[in-house]
Amino acid sequence: MSLPIPPSHIVIFGRPGSGKSSLAERLSLDHGYTLMRTGELLREAVLRRDPLGVQVESLLKSGNLVPDPVIAALLERTLTGPGTGRILFDGFPRTMGQVRILEQLEQTRGFRVDCFLEVAISREAAILRMTGRRVCPECGATYHMANKPPQAEETCDLDGARLERRKDDALEVIEARQRVFDESTLPVLDYFRTHAPERYRRVDGEQASEAVYAETCRVLGLEDYTLRGQ
Ligand code: ADP
Repeated sequence: MSLPIPPSHIVIFGRPGSGKSSLAERLSLDHGYTLMRTGELLREAVLRRDPLGVQVESLLKSGNLVPDPVIAALLERTLTGPGTGRILFDGFPRTMGQVRILEQLEQTRGFRVDCFLEVAISREAAILRMTGRRVCPECGATYHMANKPPQAEETCDLDGARLERRKDDALEVIEARQRVFDESTLPVLDYFRTHAPERYRRVDGEQASEAVYAETCRVLGLEDYTLRGQ
């Protein structure tokens, strides 16, 4: 069922490999949401080597979560303006402790999340997607062994370089991230599904990305710009 009015503040959930981040990016571009991405904010802090970044570097590498107080500090310093405008949270909240942090931010910053969106995909399908990803170390082109294979095995179509896996796509890291999602984040989804069913929406993340985007626009009550002019 569509939301009665398009949401101004959205939380998007999905296990690693669900495609939630590409979906969030497209929603932010097409519909003017500011992306609030804890994973990216953390990676930027690591690159800048600021104190928070130094603290979390090894946790990020292992696929484990960083502690809730660090996430609280990160959001406190990032959400400096008043909580107006449209915000799309991608990757937060991921633990029940962070649900409390979100509730506090809603109060202090004066906004309310009006949609919790789950991009649903099975663990098996997510692992299959992530193990198939390849990237060209020379030009950055991306491939997928099942969905977008290169013409010659493990070789970049553009410059002939041997394709590689992303560092965080190593099998043990992929499995660790799935486990962390099951243990820490599934309870968060259950919580919102039962406590805020009128604001909870689920889309089928196992479809092709175009179909996921179309279904998302429909359930959020947003215009699907790809349908314009057809
Ligand atoms: P993915 O969605 O594929 O897991 P992200 O870019 O969202 O990737 O996150 C990368 C890493 O950053 C996570 O594996 C975790 O270590 C850390 N991280 C991101 N967001 C949070 C959060 N809300 N709480 C704790 N750790 C987080």
